[in-house]
Order: sequence, then C-alpha cells, then structure tokens
Amino acid sequence: MLLIDGSEGEGGGQIVRSSLSLAIHTQQAFRIARIRANRRPPGLRRQHLAAVRAAAEICDAQIEGDEVGSHELIFRPGKLKPAHHTFSIGTAGSTTLVLQTVLTPLLFADQPSTVRISGGTHNRASPPFHFLERAFLPLLARMGARVELELLAYGFYPRGGGEIRARIAPSALRPIHLHERGALRRAHADAYVAALPMHIAERELAVVGRMLEWSPEQLSLHALPNDVGPGNVVMLTLDHANVTEVFTGFGERGERAEAVARAAALEARAYLNASAPVGPYLADQLLLPLALAGGGSFVTTQVTAHLRSNALVVETFTDRRIRIEPQASGHLVVCE
Ligand code: ATP
Repeated sequence: MLLIDGSEGEGGGQIVRSSLSLAIHTQQAFRIARIRANRRPPGLRRQHLAAVRAAAEICDAQIEGDEVGSHELIFRPGKLKPAHHTFSIGTAGSTTLVLQTVLTPLLFADQPSTVRISGGTHNRASPPFHFLERAFLPLLARMGARVELELLAYGFYPRGGGEIRARIAPSALRPIHLHERGALRRAHADAYVAALPMHIAERELAVVGRMLEWSPEQLSLHALPNDVGPGNVVMLTLDHANVTEVFTGFGERGERAEAVARAAALEARAYLNASAPVGPYLADQLLLPLALAGGGSFVTTQVTAHLRSNALVVETFTDRRIRIEPQASGHLVVCE
C-alpha cells in the first residue's frame, strides 16, 4: 500500500483528490496520513469527504477514515464502474473539484458515464464552472477527452444549491505540447449577481474596464434569478488561439466590489504581460491528465506550491517523472 503524507508541500485537499484519481486509475491502494495537518481546522472537511465518497462510488472502493475531521484515510480501489452517478456535497462545497476527482479515471472506462453533482459552482479558491468549461476542458478535448459539461443551476457560498452535469465518454488521451498561447482573439469580462444590488456588478466592470482599458462591448452584466443568491462573481476571459484562461473574483460579504474586481484584473494583467500560455491554476490541474495521457509538456507563467505538490503525487503513483525548468518565456513543465 502506498503511503502519502498529506501535509507535505502545499498540504491541502488537492493531495487527497489527486491521490484518489490516481489510485483508481492505477488500481493501487493508499493510506494518507496528516491530512491537511497545517490547515485550520485540519483533517477532511465535508467537501473533501464528498470527493472521497464519489471516488469510492465509481469504483466500489473500500474506505476507512471517511469522516469529517479525519486525519487519516485508507482507500482500496475496486474495478471502475461507469454508470449514472449522482453526488450531493450537502454544503456549498465545490462541485468542480469533486468532478475533477472522478473525471480523469472515468475517461478510461469502457462505457460512458454521467455524473451529476450538487453544491457550489462558483467557490472561492476552486475552479469556477466557467473555468472548467472555457479553460480546462477545451485542453482536455485537444488531448482526446470526450466530455460534455452543463451548468444546471448556479450555487454560491454559503447557500449552495448549484448543480453541474458531465457526460464522460471513453476516450484515448494523447499528449499535448502547449508552449505558445498564439494571438489574442477575444478578451471579455462577465459580472454576475444574484439577489444582490446590480451596482455591485456595475462597479466591478468599471474597475476591470479602467484597469485593463477594455471597452463597454467587452464588459457584460448578468442578473441571475434571486433564488440562487446571494452571490456575486466576476470572471475575466482571455481567449488566445491555443489556450483560453479565466481569472475570477469572488464576491464576499464585507469585501468591496472594487477590491474583488481589482484582484481579478491584476491576475489577468499579469497573465497578459507574460507570454507563457498556461496560468497558475491551469498548470496544476493539467498535470494529472497529462500524466495519464502518457506525457506531454507546457509552459506556465508561474510555479505554484500546488503544481509542485501535484507533481509529487503523480510521481508517487506512476512511473512518470515531472521536470520543471525555467526558460525565457516562463517555466517549462515536462511530464516524461
Ligand atoms: P484546502 O485544503 O486548502 O482547503 P482545497 O481542498 O479547497 O484546499 P486546494 O488543495 O487548495 O483545495 O486546491 C484548489 C484547486 O483549485 C487547485 O487545483 C487550484 O488550481 C484551483 N483553483 C483555485 N482558485 C482557482 C481559480 N480562481 N480559478 C481556477 N482554479 C482555481
């Protein structure tokens, strides 16, 4: 059984989720100790548990330690079971992180699957639905992944109530090499509000327009139905010929709309001022699909702790080696 130290490197929930995906794919059991040891509160939270249970369901795994607050988990995967799966996080926990946990293994099943997940769809510190739709999945599609993703209902913290559905068809993944972003085709911002005053979105778009010198045609307001709120998010989409990136500001009670938009605009501006195609979030998320595709490479703007930690998990479960080296346009990440 593989032993994982959950506190190593970045030390967050991602180590648990990546271990689950890779355990199913490689059919290796693992024991993870010191789960999120340096987080407050430490151990498994409900949203991590949702990923554990989802991973267990798609392969009839045997699990021990699957409780909120648990510091240790044992996971023994069984045979992959493509089917119709429905997972409810029970809180506003991120549906996209649960989807990513089961997505990569299900791509290798011999039958199609449908996965429906309820919870949050636009959560702070997680990929929002639109990031998966615009940035992550198109790259997976280029690798050969056949996935259709739908947003059935928006879900914001703390109310939740969102829902996403993915149809995952058996796919043969092939490596990609993403070294250049290509020409900028379109840049636009979308600000959403639900059960909150419209001026929040207007102020966010005003900040984005001013900071990035974007015209009114590039800025869109969206009023969502009141019953999905309260919620607010502003997303900046940069569509280049070879890659689309999405930078997001998550509205929160007590935080000014201007500050939310400014943080997202700063991230977008940093990306626009660089030349590498892969931004900091996409980089750590691409590593697993790349490893399962048998290799590949990309150039990223930034080497984050999430990227390094995910590389370690990949190297623990597979015989792939991840090489990260600086180069003129950013950092080259090679999965060998
Ligand atoms: P923690 O243990 O810190 O509570 P967690 O389980 O919520 O963590 P992390 O381990 O931090 O999650 O992993 C978060 C994932 O979400 C990473 O893959 C990261 O790239 C992604 N992510 C975070 N913020 C964004 C964002 N704004 N856009 C896209 N992806 C994001």
